[in-house]
Amino acid sequence: MKYIRYIFGIIGILSAYCHGSMPFITEDLCVTVPPHHYIIPDVPRVISAIVVHFTNVDRDTTFRIFQGRGYDVNPRPVSAHYVIDRDGLLYRFVEDGHIARHARAANSYSIGIEHIALPGERLTAVQEQTSARLIAALCIRYGIPVENIYGHRWLAGGSFTDPCICPGDLWKTEDELRAWVMRVVVPYIVQMVED
Ligand SMILES: [Zn+2]
Repeated sequence: MKYIRYIFGIIGILSAYCHGSMPFITEDLCVTVPPHHYIIPDVPRVISAIVVHFTNVDRDTTFRIFQGRGYDVNPRPVSAHYVIDRDGLLYRFVEDGHIARHARAANSYSIGIEHIALPGERLTAVQEQTSARLIAALCIRYGIPVENIYGHRWLAGGSFTDPCICPGDLWKTEDELRAWVMRVVVPYIVQMVED
């Protein structure tokens, strides 16, 4: 019952913010994306996975690419649902119910989370906490099992780029990502469900 109450509580809070995003995202952190950078599904989609990425470029370049002003850097009309900056701020680019263009074959059923980072960089402390909170909230909201949190390059058919280097050095191996989820994300899930 606690779990059910939590979900309805979240939905109640969400309605006060932009277009059904997470409760700790405020209106001014929603970013508009050109319509061809995402897909609005004909029927409500089932969200069953989360894909974590690193941007491989700085914040301004990331915004340019996702907002359709960076085709010189990336000619594809890509996007992600969320972007987490080095300072821990969370930006929402695409609504959860829409399909972002971030992981090719996995787009239809996943949420994409980008982390601003250059090659060789790790998550900052605040970026890590925002990421873990967001992932925990998404897992609860959509009933996503923690086993379905993937690093981009470990997802079959997930990239046009071969080899795919994403998520860079944020999580160097699949085992490292799984261990991080258990150590950092799961405690937030437990805390959120109990609150
Ligand atoms: Zn990626």
